[in-house]
Amino acid sequence: MFSAEAPSWSFTRSKAMSECPRGAWFAYHARSDRDFAARAYALKDLTTLPMAAGAAVDYVIGRAMKAHRDDGEALVGLATAGVRLFRRQIQNSLAVVPEIQNGGRWDRSSGKWMPPLQHHYYGLDLGDEAVARMERRIVECLGEFESGAVWERIRRVSPAAWHPLGKMDGRDVPSFLTSCGVKVWSAVDFAMVDGDMAHVVDWKSGVPSPSAQEAARDQLAVYAMWACRHYGLRPERVQVQAVWLQAPTAWEPQTVDDVRLRSVAKRIKAEVAAEEARLEIRLNVRGRRVQRKAPRENFPPRPGTKRCVECRFRELCPEGQRECAHLQTTAALAV
Ligand code: SF4
Repeated sequence: MFSAEAPSWSFTRSKAMSECPRGAWFAYHARSDRDFAARAYALKDLTTLPMAAGAAVDYVIGRAMKAHRDDGEALVGLATAGVRLFRRQIQNSLAVVPEIQNGGRWDRSSGKWMPPLQHHYYGLDLGDEAVARMERRIVECLGEFESGAVWERIRRVSPAAWHPLGKMDGRDVPSFLTSCGVKVWSAVDFAMVDGDMAHVVDWKSGVPSPSAQEAARDQLAVYAMWACRHYGLRPERVQVQAVWLQAPTAWEPQTVDDVRLRSVAKRIKAEVAAEEARLEIRLNVRGRRVQRKAPRENFPPRPGTKRCVECRFRELCPEGQRECAHLQTTAALAV
């Protein structure tokens, strides 16, 4: 069993740790280091162009589902709405970045629904072609969602059986405890109960490369674990589906087999243990763990040009700055 002080686990954190432990330190541990806490906290908000495009897709899908659920309204023209939102996000980013560069941070309550872009923060040109590519992606994804089989199938189920729509309903990311006591955050896009089955759907706006599909299989296994606990169901009564919206979609949810569930549970346990091993645990006089420290040197940098250019925390990282010193501000980076 892990203690309550053990690190929690999420896909984002797992990816950060595997890519560069120092980057993960800035994102998850710098708050306890007074030299880095404030800036790391501000930089953690920055986002990338593909993430902004994906967020625009998710947001518009959420709005369409909410309109259907709350008002029985069928929103149309989703692709146009998504592109408009994405362009507004880019303009908002340009307006907000100087404030962050001057030591401030993005104000979540400002009504600007998405965080600013790290390209703008680091003075890199987004590139017209990269922006146009993301707009085409938004159009394809939202066009497919609007007319595709998955949304049509979901609409046949009473919204009373839908799980709350995350941020649309002001809900935090759900979490659950694994059998060994790890807190796992699982940001499910959509879940519902239909008959005696629960279904979990994950909207995907990215390219379904083999590695992305393999990562999605593990991600869906985590969502299946969440659904089992949330609905009190056995794994054979939970079906999951990654819906890759850049191509025609079909309703084809599947159960997650025991082998995958066990291997993901093992992966979570091993990764949390590995991260915990980098921490300094302090004990009280009775030998109980009372505090953990995360020394920066236990999370070494792993510089790499592409990785560092895409890293939100480069400003705080001498190794990353050295890695990128030869680069000009150019559109050829990062997206
Ligand atoms: S700039 Fe590079 S080395 Fe530094 S934290 Fe980011 S990814 Fe790691």
